[in-house]
Amino acid sequence: MKTIGLLGGMSWESTASYYRIINEEIMHRLGGLHSAQIVLYSLDFQEIEDLQHRGRWEEAADILVEGARRIESAGADFLLICTNTMHKVAGRVESGVGIPLLHIADATGQQIRTGGFSKVALLGTRFTMEQAFYRGRLEERFDVEVLVPDEAERELVHRVIYDELCLGSIQGASREHFIGIIGGLADRGAEAVILGCTEIALLVDQQDSPIPLLDTTRIHAIGAVDMALE
Ligand code: GLU
Repeated sequence: MKTIGLLGGMSWESTASYYRIINEEIMHRLGGLHSAQIVLYSLDFQEIEDLQHRGRWEEAADILVEGARRIESAGADFLLICTNTMHKVAGRVESGVGIPLLHIADATGQQIRTGGFSKVALLGTRFTMEQAFYRGRLEERFDVEVLVPDEAERELVHRVIYDELCLGSIQGASREHFIGIIGGLADRGAEAVILGCTEIALLVDQQDSPIPLLDTTRIHAIGAVDMALE
């Protein structure tokens, strides 16, 4: 089994999900007392969030590269950045280490392909929903149309992520808003919804949605298990 490198803490709420999903999947596949070989390096998210919202992405990238190097020197065979948003600087991280990076949008794109979807919706931070680094990669590499919610809905989703979910606060009212937004996206023709923020699955699950949910945390974590057992 290969050793999985997790660059986490963005937020730690979802890093805990990665840790649990990966270990459950290894146990499920290998049985007995098997568990995953993991090197986890967890960042202080306040620092990262400040830099994101001031547009200082290069400085945030420096912090991620340093974390990734620590993971590599601790013996990981490959690396996951445990957030969608910080894949904005995935290129910097990838070129800063000598181990492969499992890109979250590529793992998600494979699932889109497997599901045979041609039009999907994307929920995530404003950075993820509005900038090209994520949806552009999906559109170019996986030939899929990506819909996003309207401006006011994007603002709401972004606010709920940072002010609630990253703090472990799960609010019924926010769940209702998300369910409404997902319903609207389905009405606009989305065949599936990408939960393109690693905390959203803490709030909504499949029974809340008329169309399939593609949970990037689970998809990415299972992709790591596939790679570890390859
Ligand atoms: N974990 C979230 C994501 O997947 C948001 C936190 C962040 O900005 O990294 O995008």
